[in-house]
Amino acid sequence: MSFSHFGFDPRIQAGVDASGYVQPTPIQQAAIPEVLSGRDVLGVAQTGTGKTAAFMLPILQNLLDGPRGKVRVLVLAPTRELAEQISVATRGFAEQTKLRTVTVYGGVGKRPQAEKLRKGREIVVACPGRLLDVWEDGDLDLNHVETLVLDEADRMFDMGFLPDIRRILALLPVHRQNLFFSATMPSPIRSLADRILANPASITIGAPAPAASVSQALYPTSEQLKSSLLVSIMKERGRERMLIFARTKIRVQQLATILRSEGHRVEALEGNMTQSKRQQAIDGFRKGSFQILVATDVAARGIDVTGIDVVVNYDMPETFDAYTHRVGRTGRADATGWALNLVAIMDTPLVREIQENHGQPLEQRVVDGFDYGSFNPQLRIIERRKRTGRPGALGSRRPRATTGGRRTPRFS
Ligand code: AMP
Repeated sequence: MSFSHFGFDPRIQAGVDASGYVQPTPIQQAAIPEVLSGRDVLGVAQTGTGKTAAFMLPILQNLLDGPRGKVRVLVLAPTRELAEQISVATRGFAEQTKLRTVTVYGGVGKRPQAEKLRKGREIVVACPGRLLDVWEDGDLDLNHVETLVLDEADRMFDMGFLPDIRRILALLPVHRQNLFFSATMPSPIRSLADRILANPASITIGAPAPAASVSQALYPTSEQLKSSLLVSIMKERGRERMLIFARTKIRVQQLATILRSEGHRVEALEGNMTQSKRQQAIDGFRKGSFQILVATDVAARGIDVTGIDVVVNYDMPETFDAYTHRVGRTGRADATGWALNLVAIMDTPLVREIQENHGQPLEQRVVDGFDYGSFNPQLRIIERRKRTGRPGALGSRRPRATTGGRRTPRFS
């Protein structure tokens, strides 16, 4: 199927062509006709599936007719990075339509955003908190909104945005089109979707799991060995574009310093940095000014950098959902990618969940020539659902009982 199938106006088709898209992705094939018809949509899709074009191209088509200068589309996103990414894509798609977009988020001056709204914009892409701020200042009229998009609703919930979203919903016209996207559907998100959507087209693209194009591997380690193990892994793998996740802002900065001292071109991305520093980091990584970005989850949310070869979980995340989101940064739109997981004993429950979801044990790796000291990286991996005693990825070797006074991690 090609994009011509949708019968877009030539001005929008020109935007598709300029973006280099030739074939619609599965979510685009399923969602575009529904959005064009004006129907509500519930899209359950993981990151990197082409969601943005799936909702924005038909929205732009529907906006071509009708008034200009009024806010007719509101897109809500959980983070500034995602909001920025949606805006950039939208401006590309809309280049020949004279439809205008403004991005509204905190951490930067309010005045330029208000100024743009006063001049007239048809599309607002916003994070919930700042949107309410701007509305309270009287700079935003939401009475003409025809379409609401909630993107990454599960992450909005994780970040505590539900009260803000409820307030925003109360400010919108009752009759409108609603497009609701989430990678996962835990029960609070399901209730929110039920409340907002009327007879939606339900579109589920893939299981909420890492894309099949991503290879996943485990590197068992102790906390103390992590940084030197990562340095050795990076030596082994050579020059690749890596996005590395660490748990806290401090750990991000510390790891960036260590990697710089090893001669790598590294930038950090964490929430204590100013918005302009964060944008610089993302832009520099995108342009290839440096190859390695070390980030926290929240800061890295939504960054759209293509060609990331490897996602490294230096610290494993708290939940499988968060893991899915991180790993979704690589292997996007059919490219292949790697997820390398430095796993310590406390990560055992999550590793189990990842393996269950994957349907088989993840490949387990030991770095040749790396001094593990008394730590035993030879683990026995058994899938939980198949307690048959079948040997795991490393054969039937039994784990040694203890190392350094701690039990050897056993991902079974
Ligand atoms: P998204 O899920 O919207 O963040 O998109 C993920 C990545 O896929 C982005 O880099 C998009 O530019 C890219 N993409 C989206 N749709 C297509 C398509 N039809 N063909 C090629 N790349 C696409």
